[in-house]
Amino acid sequence: QAKTSGKNRYHLFNPAFHEAMHQRTRREKELRAAIAENQFVLHYQSRVDCKSSKVTSLEALVRWNHPTEGLLGPDEFIGLAEETGLILNLGELVIDLVCAQIAQWAQGVYGRVPVSINVSSRQFNERDIRESIAGALARHGIEGSSVEIELTESSMVVDPRRTADNLQAIHALGVKLLVDDFGTGYSSLSMLHNMSFDVLKVDKSFTSRLGVDANGEVFFRAIITMAHSLGMRVVAEGVETAEQVRILEALQCDELQGFYLFRPVPADELPQSLELPVTELAAR
Ligand code: C2E
Ligand code: MG
Ligand code: MG
Ligand code: MG
Repeated sequence: QAKTSGKNRYHLFNPAFHEAMHQRTRREKELRAAIAENQFVLHYQSRVDCKSSKVTSLEALVRWNHPTEGLLGPDEFIGLAEETGLILNLGELVIDLVCAQIAQWAQGVYGRVPVSINVSSRQFNERDIRESIAGALARHGIEGSSVEIELTESSMVVDPRRTADNLQAIHALGVKLLVDDFGTGYSSLSMLHNMSFDVLKVDKSFTSRLGVDANGEVFFRAIITMAHSLGMRVVAEGVETAEQVRILEALQCDELQGFYLFRPVPADELPQSLELPVTELAAR
């Protein structure tokens, strides 16, 4: 008993620990205010079809326009948002921002491509995400086929049965289902097939191995063969070099995404054409 309280006392008065707790509390407060005031902006990163070299979809990537620290990337706040549950409100906000943008794009070139939304594990498992999406589609007067959702494997293993039912209901809205960061989690291909996924996005850690050692290529070859036989398309994430493009095309990968093709940019900085400007891919 005395030992435990001694330990606790040490933690309470440890200045570094105290400072970290203080920072976290401040950050949480800021994040709560940021959600209430909508200090978030979305950047969009295009995905490209290997055969046509055209943009097939845009991925919405959230940034926090922090009042004193400037633009913060998701790695600086999504974790805290998950831990505190604030992700539930932030997730709703992102869905609404995406749908508002799609409605605004209706007449332009980007009115023709769907936007994919990253959905976090808690958001998927603790909210009725079908309701959130259906509500936002109705509010903004857009069709289900204009959005896609990206889920990581870790979101699905929490409750695979419920996940399968949930995904089917979302699919019924016309929303496409993507597995994000594929290969880094513990799902099996048969489980994914039962969950009616349309697209596998292979994690960038595999892409970065292409041309470096045989492992990346072996992994992609196996995934592409199996995904195709199950009727799913494959996207390579994090494509950064012409050599990766060449290998992925030879492996019959369906789509590419990465800095080599397009970087994430604010909506008003997207190019005015869905045609890819990179010659390596276009001149194949
Ligand atoms: P993700 O969904 O796997 O998104 C891909 C991340 O890789 C993005 O980072 C993107 O900018 C980056 N990326 C794209 N191409 C390349 C490349 O060629 N090389 C490298 N090194 N990186 C590349 P970002 O925007 O910092 O987002 C990080 C993660 O934050 C996302 O990973 C996603 O899991 C999460 N995230 C982003 N937006 C949202 C959101 O609205 N909601 C939720 N719940 N999570 C989000
Ligand atoms: Mg993603
Ligand atoms: Mg990813
Ligand atoms: Mg990720």
